Amino acid sequence: MSRASLLGKLRENPDGWDLIVIGGGATGLRIALDAASRGYSTALVEQADFGEAASSRSTKFVHGGVRYLRGGEVGLVRESLRERGLLLKNAPALVKPMPFVVPAYRWYERLYYGLGLTLYDLLAGKQGIKRTGHLNREQALERIPNLSKEGLYGGTLDWDSQFDDARLTLAIAKEAVGHG
Ligand SMILES: Cc1cc2nc3c(=O)[nH]c(=O)nc-3n(C[C@H](O)[C@H](O)[C@H](O)COP(=O)(O)OP(=O)(O)OC[C@H]3O[C@@H](n4cnc5c(N)ncnc54)[C@H](O)[C@@H]3O)c2cc1C
Repeated sequence: MSRASLLGKLRENPDGWDLIVIGGGATGLRIALDAASRGYSTALVEQADFGEAASSRSTKFVHGGVRYLRGGEVGLVRESLRERGLLLKNAPALVKPMPFVVPAYRWYERLYYGLGLTLYDLLAGKQGIKRTGHLNREQALERIPNLSKEGLYGGTLDWDSQFDDARLTLAIAKEAVGHG
């Protein structure tokens, strides 16, 4: 993926391009990979560096969008969970399962979060990471020792995943270049 050879390819294309993508972040690179892998002659131009903007500065979570369940956007959550599952499968070196603890300071919070996060798990189907579980007070403190102890009832343990956004973006770039 040398800059000189990539620029050379851009200049020396007498037949023109089927598709020109502007912007080499995760979105543009994924579009370029998709098009190139389907046989379209594809060029991508990036004004700075691949992944230099939002795609290397995210919160680094690969999640199924659990917060959208509150708004009833079940289709969106299912789609995101499917993408999360594909990323965990296809890029295991860059995307890792990650546990989360939601502390409960009222007796009904464990029930509320437990039910919501169990629904989230169920929507992931076979691509689910691990089952949501209840934690008692001691178990919650064992996982997060600096939780405020006063009134702590317990917690809910839930799984999502974390990724290296910049490296994943570059991996997609390399894959796209590999397809020409
Ligand atoms: C604070 C924050 C936290 C986030 N956390 C997460 C998270 O935890 N998990 C998650 O999945 N997503 C997260 N996101 C969303 C994610 O970062 C973005 O959806 C994703 O990076 C967008 O990629 P992009 O390619 O559309 O944009 P960008 O990565 O911004 O890429 C756009 C590229 O276009 C280039 N460009 C612009 N104009 C031109 C031009 N005229 N010519 C050539 N090149 C040009 C820029 O240089 C840039 O490289 C977060 C976003 C933000 C802002």
